[in-house]
Amino acid sequence: MASSRPAAKRGLATGTPQADSLQALVAFARTAAGADLAVLFTADDSRNAVPLAVDPARPVSLFSLASSRIDTVDWSSGAVETSALNLPSSMLTALGGPAEKAFFISTPVENARRSGILLAWARGDAPRITPSPSELEIGLRLLTSVTGQLLRDRNAAMQRELMTERFHDLFESVSSGVVVLDNDGMDILVNQGAADLLGLGAANLDPYTLSAAMRGLRASCLNAAELDDAYRPLQTDIDYSVVATWDLGGRQFEVDTHPIRSNGQNGRIWLFHDVTARHLLERNLRRLAETDPLTGLCNRRSFEEASAVAFATAPSLAALMIDVDHFKSINDTYGHAAGDQVLQAIAARSIEALRSEDLIARLGGEEFVVMAAGLDVHAATVAADRLRQAICATPIPTDAGEIETRVSVGVSVRERDDESFDLMLRRADTALYRAKREGRNRVVVSAGPEYDSPN
Ligand code: GH3
Ligand code: MG
Ligand code: MG
Repeated sequence: MASSRPAAKRGLATGTPQADSLQALVAFARTAAGADLAVLFTADDSRNAVPLAVDPARPVSLFSLASSRIDTVDWSSGAVETSALNLPSSMLTALGGPAEKAFFISTPVENARRSGILLAWARGDAPRITPSPSELEIGLRLLTSVTGQLLRDRNAAMQRELMTERFHDLFESVSSGVVVLDNDGMDILVNQGAADLLGLGAANLDPYTLSAAMRGLRASCLNAAELDDAYRPLQTDIDYSVVATWDLGGRQFEVDTHPIRSNGQNGRIWLFHDVTARHLLERNLRRLAETDPLTGLCNRRSFEEASAVAFATAPSLAALMIDVDHFKSINDTYGHAAGDQVLQAIAARSIEALRSEDLIARLGGEEFVVMAAGLDVHAATVAADRLRQAICATPIPTDAGEIETRVSVGVSVRERDDESFDLMLRRADTALYRAKREGRNRVVVSAGPEYDSPN
């Protein structure tokens, strides 16, 4: 993860204030007592002692308090002969040989009632200054409370680290990208999901790099201008919350941002949810609802919606009703599957022949409709005949062979009194009926001059 904070480690690292204090304390205890080794350990009632600080700094491994007999010996009269003890081998190695005497300063703390400092004196001939039990007791009594306090501090720090670690695990495990700006924007947390999205490395992340990456990503969105508007209030309102979709073309993210407040400082969280799959599904469902599955053209429902909008806004509008001639006999001769291929070819040829702004739909069966804006009756008739010819120009290749196909077209244009597009459609339908009656394979216009096609 990219973060301005170091990642949490298991246990307390050396170099933390708590670890350093414990080390200093144990060194002081050893020197004050003239001992050769001092081991500060924490132990709970399960009696496994965990050495936290050793002076001189040598490795002492975890040991069983019960088998060492440290907590069964009576320490009230001071240091004891080591024959009463069974010190762990790593402690004897640290001491450089067998111990002669040992003394245990118990410093019980919550959840670690058997904790304390073990002092050991090596066996040797050299005269040594060893304080009497009473001197030790007086001198080291003070140590007990200090050690206890330090152990409590250490345990609290451990707990905090554990919490931080759990938070980080959680932070990384969420599938969304998360960016947290805390402490007036100076503390930054970016989880892997967000780092990947923003193209950020795990290296020291500063507020400027982060905000440049966020701005860059936003600017690359298809809806960048819309997002600029959505985020403008952020510049003046620290309490601003908004959910907006960042459309990156291939991927869409629902981005939720809201303020957070801690220790009187202002912060902000950004959550990036990948909604690409959801959008794709929605789009597909919408397309299914709007399109005719055989030809991919608009279906009747979406055509009705679009034509209502066009009717409300376009003063000149033409409607073309198209019906395949003798389609039933195509089906009968070549089969239903070939008939389907004819319908698909008609759709494709129509799209080719029409302008991009024209809307074509399959109304059902072998009936199609076109809505064309900005055409007067003459232009509409020309367009209709061009369409008819484009469809009929060459036989349509199908799996059952090439099929000669003809269509009839009825045309109507918007009249001043028209109240709905439906009225135009009805007139186009009447014109289509006439085209059929007059011999098919032709264009008939419902109003104004009628241009029957030459063949
Ligand atoms: P006309 O020239 O008067 O229009 O005669 P027609 O045979 O084209 O008209 P009719 O309405 O009698 O027949 C239309 C046929 O279209 C009947 C129906 O089975 C067929 N049809 C409707 N939908 C489909 C379809 O999706 N695929 C195929 N292959 N045929 C269809
Ligand atoms: Mg027909
Ligand atoms: Mg028909």
